[in-house]
Amino acid sequence: MRSASVSPNESESYVDLGHHMLEHSTRVPGRYWMIGDVRHGRRYLRSYALDPKVNKARIEAGIQVTADTIQELAGRLGMEPATLQGTVERFNGFARSGVDQDFGRGNSAYDRYYSDPLVRPNPNRGPLEKGPFTAIQIVPGDLGTKGGVLTDEVGRALRGDGTLIEGLSAAGNNSASVMGNTYPGPGATLGPAAVFGYLAGRHMAAM
Ligand SMILES: Cc1cc2nc3c(=O)[nH]c(=O)nc-3n(C[C@H](O)[C@H](O)[C@H](O)COP(=O)(O)OP(=O)(O)OC[C@H]3O[C@@H](n4cnc5c(N)ncnc54)[C@H](O)[C@@H]3O)c2cc1C
Repeated sequence: MRSASVSPNESESYVDLGHHMLEHSTRVPGRYWMIGDVRHGRRYLRSYALDPKVNKARIEAGIQVTADTIQELAGRLGMEPATLQGTVERFNGFARSGVDQDFGRGNSAYDRYYSDPLVRPNPNRGPLEKGPFTAIQIVPGDLGTKGGVLTDEVGRALRGDGTLIEGLSAAGNNSASVMGNTYPGPGATLGPAAVFGYLAGRHMAAM
């Protein structure tokens, strides 16, 4: 189920999140900070934090910042301390009530799929309370275009009017996504690429 949120919600599918980040931001390509407290860092696997060299490089590049308090963190990020403090307090209030009035985290089955069921009342939200706090810069990236040529059921390329382009097949990122403009979950890029690549190859071999 797609999240009802129209603002960035990091629990939703990353295609939806990418769209929402681009819609929400006044900057292009948009820049966000993900902030975690010390308990978050200890409790959850953060693959980017496993390699000390990567950590060091991120700190040196200014895209990973740690501070003992939220106010100090704000200062280091060039933000107004009172504003960030207020945002964190609002976030923590929603974590305690369980209802995310800003971004709707935890509203959909998709959100909750990767959540922590031990965190209550909302498995997608935990309060930011215990320093040090770490901020990591997040920017939209790409792993697929969702564009490309429309194909038929065996991967043959079609013109805009639906007629076949003889001798041309397409699969993967070169072809229009069978998932349309949405993304039901991880594998929705590689799965169709493998299936339609296989179907196209088999069809060509039979010709
Ligand atoms: C970090 C990351 C994580 C991902 N995780 C997942 C996931 O969990 N599940 C999932 O389904 N998908 C995932 N994807 C997406 C998926 O990996 C890609 O969408 C998929 O690999 C695209 O395959 P492709 O063959 O269409 O294109 P590509 O793998 O990009 O292959 C295109 C090839 O064409 C070559 N090429 C380009 N131009 C030319 C030229 N002029 N002449 C000859 N060769 C050329 C390129 O060098 C490249 O080898 C992820 C992608 C990234 C980046």
